[in-house]
Amino acid sequence: MSRYIATSAINGAHAVVNEFEQLLGKALIEKGAETPIAFPNTAYYLPFNFGMTGQPVEKLGDLQPVLARAKGLLHPAPPDRRWTPYLGQTLDAGMATLFAEEGIEAVRFIYGTEPQTLPGFHLAGGTSFTNPEFSKDGNGHLNGPIDDIQLRSWGIQLVDGRMPGFAAIVGCAKSNEVAVKIVRELQRRNILTFLSGNVNGRSIIHQLMEEGVELGYDTYTVPFGLDTYSAIYALGFATRSALTFGGMKGGQARDILMYNKNRVFAFVLALGEVDDVKYATAAGAINFGFPVIADTVIPEILPTGVTTYEHVVSMPFNEIGGKDDLERAEQLVQKCIEVRGVKIKLTEVPVPVPYGSAFEGEVVRKQDMRVEFGGKYSRCFEYLRMANFDEVQDGKITVVGPDFADQPVGAALDMGIVVDVAGRKMQKDFEPVLERQIHHFVNGASGIQHIGQRDIAWIRISKAAADKGFGLRHFGEILHARFHADFGAIVDKVQVTIYTEPADVEKWLGAARTAYDERNVRLGNMTDESVEEFYSCTLCQSFAPNHLCIVTPERLGLCGAYNWLDCKASFQINPTGPNQPIKKSQTLDPTKGYWAGTNEFTEGASHQQVHEVAVYSIMENPMTACGCFECIAMVIPEANGVMIVSREDTSMTPAGMTFSTLAGMAGGGLQTPGIMGHGKFYIISPKFVSADGGFKRVVWMSSILKEQMAEQLKKVAEREGDPDLIDKICDERIATDVEGLVAYVTEKNHPALEMPPLL
Ligand code: SF4
Ligand code: ZN
Repeated sequence: MSRYIATSAINGAHAVVNEFEQLLGKALIEKGAETPIAFPNTAYYLPFNFGMTGQPVEKLGDLQPVLARAKGLLHPAPPDRRWTPYLGQTLDAGMATLFAEEGIEAVRFIYGTEPQTLPGFHLAGGTSFTNPEFSKDGNGHLNGPIDDIQLRSWGIQLVDGRMPGFAAIVGCAKSNEVAVKIVRELQRRNILTFLSGNVNGRSIIHQLMEEGVELGYDTYTVPFGLDTYSAIYALGFATRSALTFGGMKGGQARDILMYNKNRVFAFVLALGEVDDVKYATAAGAINFGFPVIADTVIPEILPTGVTTYEHVVSMPFNEIGGKDDLERAEQLVQKCIEVRGVKIKLTEVPVPVPYGSAFEGEVVRKQDMRVEFGGKYSRCFEYLRMANFDEVQDGKITVVGPDFADQPVGAALDMGIVVDVAGRKMQKDFEPVLERQIHHFVNGASGIQHIGQRDIAWIRISKAAADKGFGLRHFGEILHARFHADFGAIVDKVQVTIYTEPADVEKWLGAARTAYDERNVRLGNMTDESVEEFYSCTLCQSFAPNHLCIVTPERLGLCGAYNWLDCKASFQINPTGPNQPIKKSQTLDPTKGYWAGTNEFTEGASHQQVHEVAVYSIMENPMTACGCFECIAMVIPEANGVMIVSREDTSMTPAGMTFSTLAGMAGGGLQTPGIMGHGKFYIISPKFVSADGGFKRVVWMSSILKEQMAEQLKKVAEREGDPDLIDKICDERIATDVEGLVAYVTEKNHPALEMPPLL
């Protein structure tokens, strides 16, 4: 860290804190100290401040101690001829800057100037805002801070390494072309990208918008704001990662910073001239262990002790080797990754369009579509089966029937994708596990949209992808490359056949359906009593160190991604991995779901934090949660039942809290009787809170669940001997408070009212 950087950062910090003071003073006069203040949809108040101090900021007046703290961290800039260390003071200045920036953003929310506007801009996918004014269609708002729901929904990808971390880009690239290249390189590696800042009024957000790059949650590229201050949202995100997944509490500042340094792969990329405020913000990021890479000349840089790598790296763009700017942009990204020092596995997939998980969420709209398979107008299925070793020719890709070249734009065609895999360790049980990956794999191609699975697959190819030469055989190329890369441990050979003649599709669809039915029966008939062992899942321990899911045939993992068969397969694929068999051993209480084996395993895997788990109860020793749960169940004593809130439901619930607030209570790897995170499909299991009365306890449920699972819920109601049960369950369209809920279930004569008291 050079004196130059220290001086700039300290000067910048003074300027930002000063601005915060002015703004807060004005707001206190104009709006009053009692004015509520918050970022949207987060349970962590102003997350950076909350993480560092444990102090919730809920009203304008609460910002006064924040200002005092920021001021207390300011030191004078180092005098010209002083050679004593000034690293500590610079880092303090960085912290002061972050406190002040977060405070400024919060005040701007009161004035309606956050999230910022950018005429003509529209966000891809969801945003932080339930307010329809900020909804995704052509409203001109940037994203602002990331909400808890999105943080958690990225959680599983952050945990399993599909998403290595994030890049906070601040400033403006040399050209639009370079801006696009940098973002594409990051997307290709599935690195989340946060955008903020400008140079002389021009931001990388402008550049990407002008080039038609889709920005938003769906593309992993989130525009925070056009000024440097909005970069604070990246550090708020980092703070919440530690709180949400790392099980830390607000106020554990040092732990949170260390967690980020050790576990969160992130860096700051400063594009264009670095001014004092950028230096000050960068100094803040360095406290998290995030290095700063600048594409301009920065004088005199020396590494010191905070990080094992350099804090600030200058890589002047024009001095980067490469035949043109695009190559230089690629090198720059490569350098950032090297500096942060994390190995990223990149699978080369031979297709003529960009490829990476960042493209998974891409939507191909009807007007942009070249051709589609499945959906309303045609049929599409995918079927993966195990074959004998010598029946499979690795890498063989065959398209049987015509490609779409001669078809009119917008055509709907039939297609069947049959994947044959062979491997010494391959088993029949792995078929559905591997087959389900097709969705992710195919979606990774830019300009391809894949929805559904099995015989309800629905694939669209965009005009842009078709123009670049994407054809049907590329589905085979993708599957071949990815199955080898991701499942090399069990798959030695992959062969793909794509059928487009309706007669062939018909014939193979029949075979596929027979297989689907067999698989349904296989897991469908499996009960917890019918097996000797359950499985653990500790995949989320990289974020929630004491959490484990116990996965049984009748209770899947709370993220919904791992059922018992998946875990079994995963164990065989990777015997020392996160899914270990748990021998049930002695049954202690079959009703509540206690076994000697599960208790013992839990004790160890939770690092002695949890001693017993009642697998079938929400009231007594419920299973813990990390942060990835699809749903939260919570007891509503007034109605003598439980409510189930879906992650997709942002409305208020009868508990007086939204999903994101509830999530703060349910997560973190602790047992909290009365509240529990769980997977969607657990709801329809006969073992759903069976110790507490089972499904009949459900008195309220997000309407989206009622809709998505209508068919299955109907069957559950019949199983419970009350065919009208679903109609007796309240939802947010009927009531979002306890009084309304009780009135509704009373009127409907809901069975929970007759059951033994829960409390
Ligand atoms: Fe995480 Fe549980 Fe899902 Fe495993 S099953 S990935 S531990 S939420
Ligand atoms: Zn998790």
